Amino acid sequence: MKLDVVNPATEKSIAQLERAGVEETDRAVARAKAAYPAWRAVKPADRTRLLRKLAGVIEEHGEELARLETSNVGKPLGDSRWEVGMVADVFHFYSGAVEKHYGETIPVSGGVDMTFREPLGVVGLIVPWNFPLMLASWKLGPSLACGNTVVLKPAELTPLTALRFGELALDAGLPEGVVNVLVGPGSVAGERLIVHPDVAKIGFTGSTEVGRRVMAGASATIKRVTLELGGKSANVVFADADLERAAAAAPSAVFGNAGQDCCARSRILVQRSVYDKFLALLTAAAGRVKVGDPEAPDTEMGPLISAGHRDKVASFVDGKTLFRGTVPAGPGYWYPCTLVEARPDDRIAQEEVFGPVAAVIPFEDEADAVRIANDSEFGLSGSIWTRDGARAMRVARAIDTGVLSVNSNSSVRVATPFGGMKQSGFGRELSMHAMDGYSEVKNVFMSTDG
Ligand code: NAD
Repeated sequence: MKLDVVNPATEKSIAQLERAGVEETDRAVARAKAAYPAWRAVKPADRTRLLRKLAGVIEEHGEELARLETSNVGKPLGDSRWEVGMVADVFHFYSGAVEKHYGETIPVSGGVDMTFREPLGVVGLIVPWNFPLMLASWKLGPSLACGNTVVLKPAELTPLTALRFGELALDAGLPEGVVNVLVGPGSVAGERLIVHPDVAKIGFTGSTEVGRRVMAGASATIKRVTLELGGKSANVVFADADLERAAAAAPSAVFGNAGQDCCARSRILVQRSVYDKFLALLTAAAGRVKVGDPEAPDTEMGPLISAGHRDKVASFVDGKTLFRGTVPAGPGYWYPCTLVEARPDDRIAQEEVFGPVAAVIPFEDEADAVRIANDSEFGLSGSIWTRDGARAMRVARAIDTGVLSVNSNSSVRVATPFGGMKQSGFGRELSMHAMDGYSEVKNVFMSTDG
């Protein structure tokens, strides 16, 4: 049976694709394995040029890729343009990283000791549907820069930009077999990549549940893994914060991408002394979010990815809400922006909703805020709003997440490390840290005895 790719804003089929099974996965790995020795041997300056060319090709096709992403994910076109811009920036960054990923020389007696950064071989990259091409690029950039060849498995729901990327990589001059795109179910193609003896590493972004399977499956061949998993990030608003700014920024931090964002600040913690005031500002700001046709220029939020996912999101909202927005009538997997008051141990405050639903939770003081923020199995991202610089630093150090922002909800930049603590995963993407995740340190001692 073919894979039917659907536009979530129209519920119409936009592509029908063959599904890769175990055989196709094995063939993709074999192609990547055959291409590895030559790709690894490409002179660093030439690999730099090829990746820079790839960044340029992405830029030239930016509008096409953005429109393709919007039609497949239902995200606003402005968001897709921003994401494709980041994809190009990622390849610009890692084109420059090729020649800057140095080894060391270490003082030892009797000779010279040095380290090299060796590529791993064939790496399997498994990505989710919420930021399809952008998250793929975070793995492709450092993988290719380090000299690995890749098999990229996009999510079944959103394979279109990955497939187009595979063509553009060839147009940019990357040799055949260096980038292989595999469209198939996670339970078949993904599982096969995880246990395949010729795959040296799995770079995985997705749910914590599947992340556990990746880690368990990889153990048979001692594969390296990077896991970027779920989140339940806290947006902590202290009484001394610029409340207008914090409230104006909060909706996009949880309703952006219709809440289908691992970094979504889906727990809004507000100091009790300003709770009512902040809530009034927050609900007013939530009411201004423009929900509708993803292709319209002023749309800020589109539909959810699928009908099944909408049911899951809806299952979290059973009682009274503080705010509930409106959605377009007609086709599309719409779900309104929703604010719910919650206690820290409520299901809605503990589990990842992955939809436009925020739990608003009052807190008493700094210690209480840190306790609630850390009362989660996740530890991906978060924000702290305060005018007290010392408090900002104390709380930033005390919250157990991999990425934090102060007086801002922005935590993703090409040049800075991104990744989780606790059950949000491990390993770091972006920045030079990602280069460490796609290479191995080799130590060589050379005797200088005559
Ligand atoms: P998912 O875990 O269901 O799927 C992710 C990918 O894994 C898909 O390509 C899927 O086909 C594949 N997969 C599924 N089952 C598999 C298996 N048994 N073996 C191998 N591969 C398998 O996640 P999703 O629903 O696509 O995405 C949503 C999740 O991703 C959320 O939990 C979200 O928080 C997380 N996410 C995390 C980050 C991050 O950087 N931490 C970023 C985006 C999304």
